[in-house]
Amino acid sequence: GAGIEFSNVTFGYSPEKIVLRNVSFSVPPGKTVAIVGPSGAGKSTIVRLLFRFYDVQSGAVLIDGQNIKLVQQQSLRKAIGVVPQDTVLFNNTIFYNIEYGKIGARADEVYEAARLADIHERILGFPERYETKVGERGLRLSGGEKQRVAIARTLLKAPVLVLLDEATSALDTNTERNIQAALSRVCANRTTIVIAHRLSTIINADEILVLKDGNIAERGRHEELLQRK
Ligand code: ADP
Ligand code: ADP
Repeated sequence: GAGIEFSNVTFGYSPEKIVLRNVSFSVPPGKTVAIVGPSGAGKSTIVRLLFRFYDVQSGAVLIDGQNIKLVQQQSLRKAIGVVPQDTVLFNNTIFYNIEYGKIGARADEVYEAARLADIHERILGFPERYETKVGERGLRLSGGEKQRVAIARTLLKAPVLVLLDEATSALDTNTERNIQAALSRVCANRTTIVIAHRLSTIINADEILVLKDGNIAERGRHEELLQRK
């Protein structure tokens, strides 16, 4: 996994509207951080800054100790798997979508059978439908099913860092929990995970950051945050 760090990051989409103010946090390699907070708090913005969709106005975003401004876009894209809020799938079979994930996969990173089974059976969850076309009439995938395809596709790239932006929002809580559990098994000790989510129902996060008004208002493990309430 890759270690990540936000060092005094300030960012706004315009000078009048600063979204993140002096935000600092770090995630050790292979750990999971959940970023929670109400809509508009800046969760997606943090995710976008991590794959350098935008540059910060001050401070720095570092991956493995290196300022991402100094890292080639191509190697950044190779190292990071992103599942954005509204994933777009190819208008082709699930199989095609999944196979596409392997293009650009790091050749040195091959999943062993148990991790592959977790991806196919627990995260994707409906391998019997591989030949189904994503847009096919009568077999159309639900929003939640599309999200599962998108997460599986991203994991098959074997990224060192996975960014999930409300990537399980269309699923029921129970399925969401099961997918979170499978995700931590697949990524255990090798892939760093950043999850942006409205609620702190996230389980298995090593740390939860609560964003409020462009700042980290609280941080800690799930139990710790509950105790302080
Ligand atoms: P969250 O993911 O927590 O809902 P966002 O990071 O999407 O929050 O948004 C934080 C703030 O930045 C919001 O006020 C939002 O309206 C604004 N914002 C988000 N994206 C853009 C954009 N592309 N241009 C201008 N403002 C934006
Ligand atoms: P979501 O609310 O998760 O986006 P949808 O309402 O899109 O879910 O779909 C729920 C279920 O209905 C899914 O199993 C999907 O395959 C099926 N479905 C959705 N649209 C159609 C359709 N036009 N014809 C047949 N089945 C559909």
